[in-house]
Amino acid sequence: MTMRRQPFTSKLPPPTIRIYTDFDGTMTQEDVGADLFRHFSGEEYFEDIRGRWKAGELEAPAAYQALCRRISSLTMRQLRDFLAPYEIDPAFPRFMRWCDEHGYPLLVLSDGVDLYIDLLMEKAGIEFQYLSNTMRLTGGSPLMDFPYFDSRCPEVAHCKSNQVALRSQEDDIIVYIGDGTSDFEAAGYADMVLARGALETYCQEQNITFRRFYNFTTVREILSLMISQNTLRRKKRAQVRRRQLWAGG
Ligand SMILES: [Mg+2]
Repeated sequence: MTMRRQPFTSKLPPPTIRIYTDFDGTMTQEDVGADLFRHFSGEEYFEDIRGRWKAGELEAPAAYQALCRRISSLTMRQLRDFLAPYEIDPAFPRFMRWCDEHGYPLLVLSDGVDLYIDLLMEKAGIEFQYLSNTMRLTGGSPLMDFPYFDSRCPEVAHCKSNQVALRSQEDDIIVYIGDGTSDFEAAGYADMVLARGALETYCQEQNITFRRFYNFTTVREILSLMISQNTLRRKKRAQVRRRQLWAGG
């Protein structure tokens, strides 16, 4: 038997449509993280810290840590009770299946906290891949960690634009779905943005092309239509920015 020479193939997987989505206010109706801190650290204190955070006086991790220190204790039971009225968009599981069937990698990027994402995921009976800040309950004040903080973006504790740029391949088409300030920076690195809320306004101001979505049924419909009409394409500006981040290490 003669050995056939393998044709040259790149080690990289073939380019794909790669989808990143925010969690709070995007996969849920409400900002669960903000509501949680408002509830447990007190409305007035929360607004004070948030004001200083938004004004740039506090970096995001410092703001989170200040909020945590204000909570004298937090138990899993309290967290479960608090989360009772919250749920993940009921259309999200079908969206996940759609991504899976078509081979589109889907990654949730949250500037919130793993504990409540896990609990809401469990409640919805689904499992998805996500990256977020972390929280540990210790009996006293909860402790947070920020594994994806980058001082390049001090206004967020989780630098989502790093994930979007560094976890994608050069020829992927990047879709980003979000609603708020934690998505501003990352949206500029995506080929296609689906936005609602503050992100919508931001995209308009920054001249970032976007489509408005209401829930994950509309997300799926918009993307399906664009794919079938071949209008979901790479955007030069986003691709150049991703390359710049890669080059910067
Ligand atoms: Mg959000």
